[in-house]
Amino acid sequence: MSTPTKAYAAKKVNEPLTFFPIQRRETGNHDVNISIKYCGVCHSDLHQVRDEWGGSTFPMVPGHEIVGIVTAVGNGVKKYKAGDKVGVGCMVNSCRECSNCREGLEQYCDRGSIQTYNSIDKDGTLTYGGYSTSVVVDEDFVLKIPENLPLDAVAPLLCAGITTYSPLMHWKMGPGKKVAILGLGGLGHMAVKIANAMGADVSILSHSTKKKEDAHRLGAHNFYATSDTSIFEKLQSHFDLIINTVSVELDWNLYLSLLKRDGAMVLLGVPSTAPQVQAFSLIGKRRTLAGSVIGGIKETQDMLDFCGKHNIVSDIEVIPMNQINEAYERMLKGDVRYRFVIDIESLRNS
Ligand code: NAP
Ligand code: ZN
Ligand code: ZN
Repeated sequence: MSTPTKAYAAKKVNEPLTFFPIQRRETGNHDVNISIKYCGVCHSDLHQVRDEWGGSTFPMVPGHEIVGIVTAVGNGVKKYKAGDKVGVGCMVNSCRECSNCREGLEQYCDRGSIQTYNSIDKDGTLTYGGYSTSVVVDEDFVLKIPENLPLDAVAPLLCAGITTYSPLMHWKMGPGKKVAILGLGGLGHMAVKIANAMGADVSILSHSTKKKEDAHRLGAHNFYATSDTSIFEKLQSHFDLIINTVSVELDWNLYLSLLKRDGAMVLLGVPSTAPQVQAFSLIGKRRTLAGSVIGGIKETQDMLDFCGKHNIVSDIEVIPMNQINEAYERMLKGDVRYRFVIDIESLRNS
C-alpha cells in the first residue's frame, strides 16, 4: 500500500511553498518507510526553488536533511527495523555500477546519482524531499543516527555536516594544519565544529564582524572580518585549506593568495556567476582550486559516527512548516544562527 503523505511544495518557480498532499510508493523489498520528524533547511533548497542552477522540476518538495523513525521495512531489508532512528541526505539512489559508485562515492556517479528531490527516480517519477511527513527509501541510502544525538539538531548533519566533513577528510585536516572557513552559515558552522574536533587550527573568514563571538564559541581559534582589507596582507600564504561556502561572487584570486604552497581552496558554495581566476594565483605556489559535493553513503555514516563520538550537532532554530517562506527570506539575509530545522509534527497536525 502506498503511504498518503502531507507535504509542502513550490508549485512553480519562485512561488511560495504551500500545502501539497502526495503518495509515497509502496514499501518494496529493499525499502525503508520512514516517518519524518525533522528536516533541515539548506540554502540549496532555496537555489532550486528559485531555479538558480537551471533544470528545476515542479511541483518541488524540497528537503534533504531528513531524520525520522522507521515505521516499516521490506522483507529483504537487513540493516533496519521499525523504531530505528534514521536519516536520509541528498541522494536516494545511484547506478551502483560505475567506478565511483563501486568506490562508495555515489555523489560522483557517472550516470548522476538520484537526488532526494528535484530528480527522476528509477521508476520514472519525480522525487519529493523531506518537507513531508513520510518517505520511502532503499535501505542502502538510509543512515543510522547515533543514539546520543538529539534528532532535531542532528538533521543538518545529513547535508551541511557531510558536505564539510568530506573535503576536511580528503585534504587530511588535523593537528598542525591551518584551515580557513569562508562564510559562517549552515555549512560554515558545521565545518568549524568538525575541523576543530579533527584537531586542526581553525579560522573563520566572515564578511562582517557580527559573528565574531559566535565563531569562538563554535570552536574557531581565529576570526577575521573580510571587510577589513588589511587581513589579505597579513594572511598571505597562510592556510593549508580554505573551505569556501559562500554563494555570492567573490574575488577568488584574493582568497587563493592566502594559501601556502600546495594549499587548496575547495568550492562548496555555488555562485550564479563564475569569477575569473588568474593563472598566477595558482602557479606561483602550486595551489589548487577544487570543488566538492556532499559525500558518499559510507562516508556519511562515518561522519555521523564521528559526530556521535564528539557530541557534534548543529546550532538550530526550529520552525513550524508554515513558516518556511519567511525562513527562506531570513536565510537570504543571513538572519539564522545557524540552521532552520522544520518540526514535521507541525505539518502532520495541520
Ligand atoms: P547559508 O547558511 O546561507 O550560508 C552562506 C554564508 O555565506 C552566510 O552565512 C555568510 O556568512 C556568507 N556570505 C558571504 N558574503 C555574503 C553576502 N554578501 N550575503 C550573504 N551571505 C554572505 O548557506 P549554506 O546552507 O551554508 O550553503 C552555502 C552554499 O553551499 C550554497 O550555495 C549552497 O547551495 C551550497 N551547498 C553546496 C553543497 C555541496 O555539496 N557542494 C552542499 C550544500 C550546500 P558570513 O556572514 O560569515 O560571511
Ligand atoms: Zn544541502
Ligand atoms: Zn554510478
